[in-house]
Amino acid sequence: RCGLVALAGRPNVGKSTLLNALIGFRLSIVSPRPQTTRHRILGIASSAAGQVLYVDTPGLHRGAKRAMNRSLNRAARAAISDVDLVVQVIEAGRWTDEDEALYAALTEQKAPRLLVINKVDLSKDKGALLPFVAALGEQHVYDEIHYVSALKKKGLAELERAILARL
Ligand code: GDP
Ligand code: MG
Repeated sequence: RCGLVALAGRPNVGKSTLLNALIGFRLSIVSPRPQTTRHRILGIASSAAGQVLYVDTPGLHRGAKRAMNRSLNRAARAAISDVDLVVQVIEAGRWTDEDEALYAALTEQKAPRLLVINKVDLSKDKGALLPFVAALGEQHVYDEIHYVSALKKKGLAELERAILARL
């Protein structure tokens, strides 16, 4: 199995930490940032189970009223639509307008979508997460929802298995 996987999400949700953790527990190559037309390859995770190319996608910009933002958002949507799988990363217990903008863009895409709720080590009350996740789950935009801590390396093996299984 192999494919292009976009790690998407607003700044500070932990994408870089997650990428390093996913790459780190495999013997893998981190490429010297080659560019594809639409994507920047962030790293490659190779294992007996397959190979995953993690790519960056441009962020979605709010205030799409301005022509430039509209054109940037078009490029961002094209980038998301041109991968084999999208992983949207959010922070446990926090859902912002930027997260919502990406979510909205994902509803239009055909590639499988995983929601990764990162930083679960910070949320003391696990129960507080449930209504929030249930509401997202009911929209059926995400194929799977995973809870992880990129920092504490929790839930990563399961996440990697799920990613490979959908490529
Ligand atoms: P990015 O902007 O999405 O790439 O986010 P970074 O990977 O740079 O992480 C932003 C901040 O969140 C850094 O201070 C990380 O150490 C922290 N962070 C990332 N993942 C976790 C996590 O699972 N738990 C906690 N507590 N902090 C995290
Ligand atoms: Mg980063």
